[in-house]
Amino acid sequence: MKPHEVPLLFDVSSEGRCYPVVPDVDVPEKPVDDLLPPECRRKSPPRLPDLGAVEVTRHFIRLSRRNVGVDNVFYPLGSCTMKFNPKATEKIAAMSGFAMLHPGQDYSSVQGILELLYECEHFLCEISGFDAVSLAPAAGAHGEMTSLMIIRAALRERGEGRKKVLIPDSAHGTNPASCTIAGFETISLKSGPDGLIDLEDLKAKMTEDVGALMATNPNTLGLFETDICEAAKIVHDKGGYVYMDGANLNAILGIARPGDFGMDVMHFNLHKTFSTPHGGGGPGSGPIGVTKELEPFLPVPRPVKNEDGEYSMDWKSPKTIGQTRTFAGNISVIVKAWAYIRMLGAAGLKRAAEHAVLNANYLRRRLSGTYRIAQDRMCMHECVFSAPEIEGSKAPGQDVAKRLLDYGFHPPTVYFPLIVPHALMIEPTETESKATLDEFADALLEIAREAAEEPEKLREAPVNTPVRRLDEIAAARKPILRWNPDAPE
Ligand SMILES: *Cc1c(COP(=O)(O)O)cnc(C)c1O
Repeated sequence: MKPHEVPLLFDVSSEGRCYPVVPDVDVPEKPVDDLLPPECRRKSPPRLPDLGAVEVTRHFIRLSRRNVGVDNVFYPLGSCTMKFNPKATEKIAAMSGFAMLHPGQDYSSVQGILELLYECEHFLCEISGFDAVSLAPAAGAHGEMTSLMIIRAALRERGEGRKKVLIPDSAHGTNPASCTIAGFETISLKSGPDGLIDLEDLKAKMTEDVGALMATNPNTLGLFETDICEAAKIVHDKGGYVYMDGANLNAILGIARPGDFGMDVMHFNLHKTFSTPHGGGGPGSGPIGVTKELEPFLPVPRPVKNEDGEYSMDWKSPKTIGQTRTFAGNISVIVKAWAYIRMLGAAGLKRAAEHAVLNANYLRRRLSGTYRIAQDRMCMHECVFSAPEIEGSKAPGQDVAKRLLDYGFHPPTVYFPLIVPHALMIEPTETESKATLDEFADALLEIAREAAEEPEKLREAPVNTPVRRLDEIAAARKPILRWNPDAPE
């Protein structure tokens, strides 16, 4: 075993070590035949490790210390808005009145959560300028797909089978993926030299067989699409819809509303903008907002407030695209987002956006003399640089990212957006102090010096982490996610 390796509990298990010992049962045992049908019963007892409580505790604490997360390091993962997750909202979501609810309960016994869902939809309408919101989608990508299904349903109702969707070349990879899964064909739009949607290219490609434009605003270069109203007009004049990827809403909260600048439908990422935990696969939440015109197509069920003031779920919307998620969505995430919105209030949300933009611009100014920046002008919540050349390296973005781990920071997003060579996409978020931003900028400046003078330090990084460079392709394609006693070594 290598010095840093943490052995599996199974490997350190030894018989009779188990503590505390569970006392013998002093009530009559119910025959198992009464409880479970034979096909559901185990054929042999589970293989569990035999360990003392101290060993188990140490094992998990040791593992948790190896984790790099937003609670122990600065985590500037561009496009993902990895901000501080308040523990107060965790506590609220864990309250038994929320956590122990069953989705099959009678509406009269769950008035509180129904009111919360109803209120959360209205907060999101107010924040985004849309007429209606559905909390159903389980993540941003799911919100994208739900939105495109709504657009398709609306087109069908008009008797149109438009098949194409326009997507800027700077878009997040989920955009073309959701679009394809929803049955559309994607057409790429070129970004102009200023990093924004090229209106001439849009005009040329916006024909009458195009159902929608998928725009991201602020876009993935961290720039506000200043011609968004004009772009929406071009699409609307040809009978199309504009979908907005709202993953970057953190930058414009309380400042600009997509519903006001001509968007027809948008997804939110509660796990980015509204500070719910994110990473490790979620759970996330990707609500969508729509205009009045598209509201009838929203997924069911929808929380409603009845005339007598009681809340219930409406399952009978005649034009709905149907149910896209079990029950009402990822409730615990929605509770945390609702609590975050209530905690900050309207003024607090606006301040969060202003600080996010200020922090990103601070880093932009500190780094742009040393790192090549994609667009050197005022950015929104994130900024995109290129990694410096590193002798003997084909992926300098990767090298800079790994070296940052040695300096105690989580790396930024690398190699996205695709239109920037060796991209380093940095999003500091509003929750970081100037001192942290300075430490991070100092580390990146030092890394730039190393890239020129000691390139091997980057090629070999990381050296100060429990494990060195991992085989990321194998980890993505052939992940080993659970212990299997019969697997070959
Ligand atoms: C994160 C992100 C998405 C997808 O959201 P998920 O919740 O990860 O599915 C889409 N677009 C942009 C710009 C994003 O940053």
